[in-house]
Amino acid sequence: MHRLTASQIHRAFLKGELSAKAIAEHFLKRIQLHDPKIGAFLSILETKVLLKAEELDRKRSQNQPLGKLAAVPIAIKDNMHIQGEITSCASQMLKNYRAPFDATVVRLFEEEDALLLGKTNLDEFAMGSSNENSSFFPAQNPWNLKCVPGGSSGGSAASVAARLSLIATGSDTGGSIRQPAALCGVVGFKPTYGRVSRYGLVAFGSSLDQIGPIATSVEDIAMTMNVIGRHCPHDATSLELPPENYPLKTDLNEITFAIPKHFIESSDPEVQTNFLEAVSVMKELGAKIIEVDLSILKYSIAVYQILATAEASTNLARFDGIRYGLRSKSAKDLTSIYQQSRHDGFGNEVKRRIMLGTFVLSSGCKDAYYTKAQKVRTLIIEAFQNIFQTSDALLLPTTSSSAFEKGSIQDPLDLYLQDIFTIPANLAGLPAISVPSGYDKKGLPLGLQIIGPELCDTSIIQYAYAYEQKSRHAKIPSPYEK
Ligand code: GLN
Repeated sequence: MHRLTASQIHRAFLKGELSAKAIAEHFLKRIQLHDPKIGAFLSILETKVLLKAEELDRKRSQNQPLGKLAAVPIAIKDNMHIQGEITSCASQMLKNYRAPFDATVVRLFEEEDALLLGKTNLDEFAMGSSNENSSFFPAQNPWNLKCVPGGSSGGSAASVAARLSLIATGSDTGGSIRQPAALCGVVGFKPTYGRVSRYGLVAFGSSLDQIGPIATSVEDIAMTMNVIGRHCPHDATSLELPPENYPLKTDLNEITFAIPKHFIESSDPEVQTNFLEAVSVMKELGAKIIEVDLSILKYSIAVYQILATAEASTNLARFDGIRYGLRSKSAKDLTSIYQQSRHDGFGNEVKRRIMLGTFVLSSGCKDAYYTKAQKVRTLIIEAFQNIFQTSDALLLPTTSSSAFEKGSIQDPLDLYLQDIFTIPANLAGLPAISVPSGYDKKGLPLGLQIIGPELCDTSIIQYAYAYEQKSRHAKIPSPYEK
């Protein structure tokens, strides 16, 4: 069953070839067998998922209508709410926090009859690129357990790569869907900002955060987007657009892709070779390639580190020991409740970002940092708009190297550099997808990234599908076939 895609397993269930109970049991068993090594899950919803499976089998036997994701096993990143379950954000701060309501994406999955298997591991509050910042335990890369799965949605990507679930949700503030998807050899899609509701997602950088799917095929990404890509009145930034069908296409005639040659030169030579191979597949499909200058993107990381930390410092102010989560036992008065609870509840990376964000927003520094970063963000948005006058999408590698070994990047600044190719799409709110593009010499997966104009989510998915169908590298099996 785990060799099927989500679309295939859904069709097999509808046809009566597989029961929902057998599907749920199969994936629960795989989690039990493989996850002690991988560490993708923080909690398993065994009882709930088995009850849901029985309900689906009953509905099917009574010929009742079934949802668009009926019997599809899905994992949810543990910064999204499932009512009554813990939403930990992989933080000591929220390790006992039970969600009082469903996130909109979770509600939509439930309405469409998905099987929700459990909650996945992440960097604490989604801050990181390696999953090493989880305050519980790090997740491992299924391709090499010594390596990181990427982050922050590392648990989600690892769970799909090992086929412990067929779809998982991620949240992408600066690359957290696409980077782990690339490092784990699966597909990851960050929709246009506002396409998927953030209601019930614990906020990190609200002007950058976007929920999206991780899956084993582009078709499964389209199927999931059809369900979750809709307007939600609970999220003020949710776009008022009708849901799309994401039809798939396989030719790229008349399509022009831009590649920013100089920007890519900083990446690993193997990444560059792999990228150029992917570009030649696009040419074979009929696409025209033009070179563009996007040197302004070299400021992306600096801009992101100012804006994301500024927003995080205000978003995380609510974790004060009173309203949510942990209250330190050693606190004696009001001030020490705040101080001690935040001292005990947050890990080092979260504290570092809160301090940086507070600094860039402080009255003496705001103009020099925050306001200036906003201006450069606008220039980056304009640079993209300019490129899309003459091209339909931009091609980039997803990451500048393949998965690195755990513990090998010690300096947080070096880890921030990991996100150089993914952050620009968040700053400009653009849809972007990472699709597997083969392996490096160490046998670790790499990804091709396609970034499109605002609202062109369907086109981006179509280009990725065309590439996936044509490239001999795009259909990467699981390292956990058995
Ligand atoms: N790796 C980036 C960071 O550390 C992005 C995280 C994210 O997208 N949630 O902030």
